[in-house]
Amino acid sequence: MRQEDGIMTIKGVGEKAVEKFDKLDIVTVGDLLEHYPRDYDEVRPIKEIRALKEGELAAIEANMVSRPQMKLHGKLKILTTVMTDHSGKMIDVTWFNMPFLKNQLHMGTVYILRGRVARKRDRLVMEQPKLYTKQDFYNIVGKLRPIYPLTKGLTNNAITKAMESALKESEDILEYIPKDIRNRNNLIGYKKALKDIHFPKKKEELKEARRRLVFDELFLYILALKHIKKSSLEKKSTHVIESAKEVEIFKNDLPFELTKAQNKAYDEIMKDMGSGLVMSRLVQGDVGSGKTIVALLCLYQVVMSGYQGALMVPTEVLAAQHVKTFRKLLEVDMDEENEDAADDSKKSPAVNSSGKPIVVEQLSGSMTAKEKKAVKERLASGEIDIVIGTHALLQEDVEFENLALVVTDEQHRFGVRQREIFFKKGKEPHVLAMSATPIPRTLALILYGDMDLTVIDEKPANRLPVKNALVGTGYREKAYEFIQKRIAEGEQCYVICPMVDESEDADLENVTIYAEDLRTVFPAATRIEALHGRMKPKQKDEIMERFAAHEIDILVSTTVIEVGIDVPNATTMLIENAERFGLATLHQLRGRIGRGSAQSYCIFMMGNATPESRERLEVLEKSNDGFFVASEDLKNRGQGDLFGTLQSGEKVFNLADIYEDARILEAAAEEAKKYSLEKLFSEQIDLTNEERAFQGPKNQDTRLMKKISQYMGEVTL
Ligand code: ADP
Ligand code: MG
Repeated sequence: MRQEDGIMTIKGVGEKAVEKFDKLDIVTVGDLLEHYPRDYDEVRPIKEIRALKEGELAAIEANMVSRPQMKLHGKLKILTTVMTDHSGKMIDVTWFNMPFLKNQLHMGTVYILRGRVARKRDRLVMEQPKLYTKQDFYNIVGKLRPIYPLTKGLTNNAITKAMESALKESEDILEYIPKDIRNRNNLIGYKKALKDIHFPKKKEELKEARRRLVFDELFLYILALKHIKKSSLEKKSTHVIESAKEVEIFKNDLPFELTKAQNKAYDEIMKDMGSGLVMSRLVQGDVGSGKTIVALLCLYQVVMSGYQGALMVPTEVLAAQHVKTFRKLLEVDMDEENEDAADDSKKSPAVNSSGKPIVVEQLSGSMTAKEKKAVKERLASGEIDIVIGTHALLQEDVEFENLALVVTDEQHRFGVRQREIFFKKGKEPHVLAMSATPIPRTLALILYGDMDLTVIDEKPANRLPVKNALVGTGYREKAYEFIQKRIAEGEQCYVICPMVDESEDADLENVTIYAEDLRTVFPAATRIEALHGRMKPKQKDEIMERFAAHEIDILVSTTVIEVGIDVPNATTMLIENAERFGLATLHQLRGRIGRGSAQSYCIFMMGNATPESRERLEVLEKSNDGFFVASEDLKNRGQGDLFGTLQSGEKVFNLADIYEDARILEAAAEEAKKYSLEKLFSEQIDLTNEERAFQGPKNQDTRLMKKISQYMGEVTL
C-alpha cells in the first residue's frame, strides 16, 4: 500500500466509508495518515468509589449488590443497579437501551466498569459504563487512545481501525528531512513520529512525535515562503500609484491628526505602490492604533490613480461597519437623511479620477443572490471603486475591471493561498495585510517572511490607558453598580457572556438569558440587547448599528464582537468567566473599549478564581500592550497544555501553534536559512538502496508538494 493509493485499498474500508472519509478531506492513504487525533483518551487505573469525582471518566472494580432493575422512560429502557467496592461506598450504575445486560449481570460478581460519573439527586451515578474483563482492562490501562475529528456516520473506532491498518501496510512512509537537521534538533524519524502521534504508548512518546511533526510543518512552511519570496521579489507592477493632491487635502481635513506611526505606515505603503514593483506589506498595529484610516487613505489613492481597491474582513458585521465609516469619511453617505441635510457644513463628496463621487459597496455572503449579482456586475464594469467584503470576495465569479490594491483587515492569517486568488483577479495587485494579532516581531518576521513589515507602535494621543480590574464573582453586584454609573454618564457598555461549551445553541441561550436577567437588575430605562453568533448577519448588523447610534446602552454578547468593531462611546466592558479565554482573545476583546478620549474600564470576572488563572490573567491587569501580553503568554504557555489550544480563525497548520511552538518555529527558521525547497526535493535522503529503488523520487515529491500546497496553494519549482 502506498500513500497515494485511495483509501479503498485499506482493509475494511468500503465504498460507503469512502464517501464519509471524503467529508473529512481524506481521499488517499496519505491523507488518512495525516488525520491526527484531536485529543487522547488516557485509560487511568481503577479508582476507589469513594474517590470518584463528579464529571470524571473513571474505572472502578466493584461488586454488584442489587438486582438490576429495568424501567421504561418513554421509549427509553433504563437499567439500574448498585455497585460497591472495598472502600465501602456505593454508586448507582445505569445503562440506556441495553436491556440484554439484565440477564448477563450477576449479583455478587465483581466487574470492572469504566464510564462517566454524574450526580443525580445527590447520588453518584456512573452512566453507560463499558464492562471489561480483568485481562481486557489491563491491556488498555495506561495507554493513550486517539480521539479523532469525526463526521457523521464514521465512528472513532472505524477511523482507528483504518489507521492501524494503514500504518502497518504502508510501504512508503519515508524520511524526507535530512539526517543532519534531525540530529541537530533531536528529532525522531518520520515513520516513528507518524506511528506515535496516532498510537503513543506514553505521553513522552506523544510529545516527541508531536515535536517532530510540528517541526516538519513549520520547516516546510518557511521553505515555501522563502521560495515564494524569491520568485516574487522584484516583480514588476503594472499599477504605479502616484500620490494625488486630493488625498493629501482630505488627510489634512480629517477630524484628527494622524499619529507619527500612522504617517510612517502610510508613507511606506505609498512608496511601495509607487515603486513600480508589486507591494506585499504587513502592517501590524495593536487594537485601537488606527489602522482603518491608513487603509482608507491608501485605497483612496488607488482610486485617484484610476483603479479599484478591495478591503477584505473576517466578518459581515465588520464589513458593514467599514462601509459606513468609509462612506461617511468620503462624504458619499447614501442615507437619505444625509442627502436632505445638505447644509453648508457638509463638504462635497470625494470624487474619483473621472470626477464622479467615489462608490463604496459591500459584498458578503448573506446578501441576496440578486444583490450580490448586481455588485459583481458593477465591479466587473468598474463602476464600483472600493468594495468591502468577507471571504465572498474570493469567489471565482468575482471579477474586477482593474484591481490594484487588496487590503485585508484583521485577517488572522491572510494566507499566501488567498493572496494568489487575488493575484488572478487583478493583474497582480498590491497587497496590504493589516493585523492586530500581537505576534512578537521575531515570530512575525518568520511567519510573514514573504512580506515587508511595518509596525504601528503608537496610539492616538488623546487616549487614556484602559483601567483594568481582575475580580471574583463576589464583585458582580458592584460591577453592575459601576456600569450603571457609566450609563448614567451617557456612556455604553459591553458584557461578554460566559461560555458554557462550544456549541452555538448554548451560546444563544446564554446570551439571551443573561440579557433578560440583566433587565431585571438594571432600571427599566436601560436599553439592553443581546448579540450572538446564531443571529443572521443582517440582524447582527442591525444591532451593531443601533449600538453605534447609542440606541442601546448595554450590549450582551459572545465573542462575535471580538474583531474590529469600533464604537468609541463604549467605555466599559465586563467579561464573565474570563479565565476561560486565552490572553490574546481577552486582549482583543478589551480592544473594543478605550477607543475614545474618555476613560475606559475593563472588568475581568473570574467564575473560577484558582491561583493559576489569577496569575495568568494578571498579565492583562498589568499591561494594555498587546505585544507585551503576547510575549508573556508565550512564556507561560511554554510547557503548558500538551494538546495545544484551538486558535480562532482559520487553521493554517495541522498541529503547530505559533505561540506554543515558538521555539520549534525558531529552530525550523534557523535550519531553513541553509536550505531551499529545491534542495529538499533534489536530495536523496539517507534511504537504503532498497528503499530508493522502491520509492523512485516522484512519489515522495507528490506527497511533499501536497503538504506544502495545503497552506501555500500551488507552488511551482
Ligand atoms: P484598529 O487599529 O483597531 O483597527 P481603528 O482604525 O478602528 O483601530 O481606530 C480606532 C479609533 O480611533 C477610530 O474611532 C478612529 O476613528 C480613531 N482614530 C484613528 N486614528 C486616530 C488619530 N490619529 N487620532 C485620533 N483618533 C484616531
Ligand atoms: Mg480595525
